[in-house]
Amino acid sequence: MKQGSSPTIIRVLDQATVNKIAAGEVVERPASVVKELVENSIDAGAQSIRIDVIASKNEITSISVTDDGMGMDRENALLAFTPHATSKITEIRDLDTIRTLGFRGEALASIAAVARVTLTTRPRDDELAAGTRIVIAGGEILENSAVGSPGGTTILVEDLFYNTPARKKFQKSRATELAHIIGILEGIILAHPTIAFRLTYNGTEQIVTGRNATRLDTIARIYGTATTRDLVPVSGTAPLVTVTGHISRPSLSRKDRDRIFLSINGRYISSPAITNAIKEGYGTLLPKDRFPVAFLALDIDTTLVDVNVHPTKKLVRISREPEIAGAVRDEIKKTLAGHDLIPDIRPPATPQPIVADAPAAMTALPRSLPYQFPKSTPLVVSEPTHAGVTDSDRRLRQTELAPGPAPAATLPPLRVIGEFGGIYILATTASGELMIIDQHAAHERILYELAGQQDDSGKRVQELIAPVMLHRTPRESAVLTELLPALRNEGFQIEEFGKDTFLVRTVPIVLGKLEDTSLLEAIISDLVSTDRGERVDNRERITRIVACRGAIKAGTICTPEQCQRVADQLRLTKNPFTCPHGRPTIIRFSREQLDGMFKRN
Ligand code: ADP
Ligand code: MG
Repeated sequence: MKQGSSPTIIRVLDQATVNKIAAGEVVERPASVVKELVENSIDAGAQSIRIDVIASKNEITSISVTDDGMGMDRENALLAFTPHATSKITEIRDLDTIRTLGFRGEALASIAAVARVTLTTRPRDDELAAGTRIVIAGGEILENSAVGSPGGTTILVEDLFYNTPARKKFQKSRATELAHIIGILEGIILAHPTIAFRLTYNGTEQIVTGRNATRLDTIARIYGTATTRDLVPVSGTAPLVTVTGHISRPSLSRKDRDRIFLSINGRYISSPAITNAIKEGYGTLLPKDRFPVAFLALDIDTTLVDVNVHPTKKLVRISREPEIAGAVRDEIKKTLAGHDLIPDIRPPATPQPIVADAPAAMTALPRSLPYQFPKSTPLVVSEPTHAGVTDSDRRLRQTELAPGPAPAATLPPLRVIGEFGGIYILATTASGELMIIDQHAAHERILYELAGQQDDSGKRVQELIAPVMLHRTPRESAVLTELLPALRNEGFQIEEFGKDTFLVRTVPIVLGKLEDTSLLEAIISDLVSTDRGERVDNRERITRIVACRGAIKAGTICTPEQCQRVADQLRLTKNPFTCPHGRPTIIRFSREQLDGMFKRN
């Protein structure tokens, strides 16, 4: 429970309780000061919190946090700086039901021990009470006076680490420290989207969020509407956990987990188990090495969450974690199955996100550049050549996905109305939307799922009429030799045939009759290339390369029948929305969007 309006009573914890609390230093760098002070403001029931950071050329020189929380009277304000003094618990059992972010009673004492701190505070709900100002440096009280002050609390921290040279030296450049501050604040803000936050850096606004904003508004304030457009809401209750927030459509993914934000009972935390569960919830909708964007708040019975495992409380211990993770995974699955996952077209002018990744002065980019037609693209609709048609036909015919059980997420029936530039297929739906399909990405997805399929006798393979001979350099041969068993599992039977020479006897059936052996050369070249940027296992790598090389290329003009076949086959895939690398295969323009662009509405 937030402390609300009952007056603060700070007590010093007894030694037995202190001994049971996870010990450790919490003030490591300027960002830790921001975290501790802002968490205190949230615990004090603040509706709006302002953080002002000032830096000199080399380092952060002052941090101040101002809130409109409940404030303190003089007696409590003095006690607040005593080690192990807290108003949030009185005995260790209280941790079973704790809902405040703090409870160790250590932060203010630790900060005041290594900096000069000025506290100005007045009880918010007592009109008659006086304000208090306390100045304390290196743990010593330098001033304690009555002052006029609005209700709430301001804590100003200067000369951080002035008496601990080792920690001061540990500080990185001011840009790095600011990045840490922003990183921590983002997590806290996303866990408390309805509190108004304002962060300034040398007087320039870095983050501003509104009071009583929706979670989506707050996400948009931080990451921009380009992100929020690709999010779908999550809201579900399972026996052990309530999950609310937003997750990305498969068309918005990242190569790392850095944009999965989790809070448990209002506390911004990291949890590998829950993060994995979220990823699992996407199943095949995301490539193995891509991660969704997610902003999720979990509500879990406080008796199941142990926050007393780490001094900064970034990690918590969750009892019955497998069940809770499973419930989160199921909730993600259910959400994705219940939503339209086709990305919408972005409107031309996207408002800029308010947060600058770097200090504001560095990010002055022009908002939009006038569009210019690329010079190299001929602006005529080309006719498919005869040879092209046969090649595309061969590639498409060999590769038919059989209609199986209904896929989890589906596209509406698509009627092809044309193609553009040998790259895009244009189609409409019964509800009158315009769909644009990336023909290579779509075919890649189809082949990828086909290549992943097996029949009863294992991988479906195609024997070559005449074995194909490949020569490689000694280095490439060494790599290829190592990959032979993995290749065999995926349908390539390749034998060593003398020094640096190989014989290919079979290929996966998805590659078809393979009249053109340069395709095989290309696949093997991709495989033995040194660029292993993708962090996936051999099987996944081989399947992706086969799908990419086997798919009709961008620039190949397809006939209307061929385009229709790609569209129909795409609908049969388990994940029609992205290619195996996570790029979108299909986007949509609704009638309303087009009308808007033509100013018809
Ligand atoms: P903890 O948060 O673990 O209780 P701290 O050292 O951070 O310990 O703070 C000590 C006490 O000071 C808190 O328990 C709280 O009563 C009081 N306090 C700190 N910051 C504020 C604030 N911004 N507004 C009101 N009270 C505060
Ligand atoms: Mg605290």
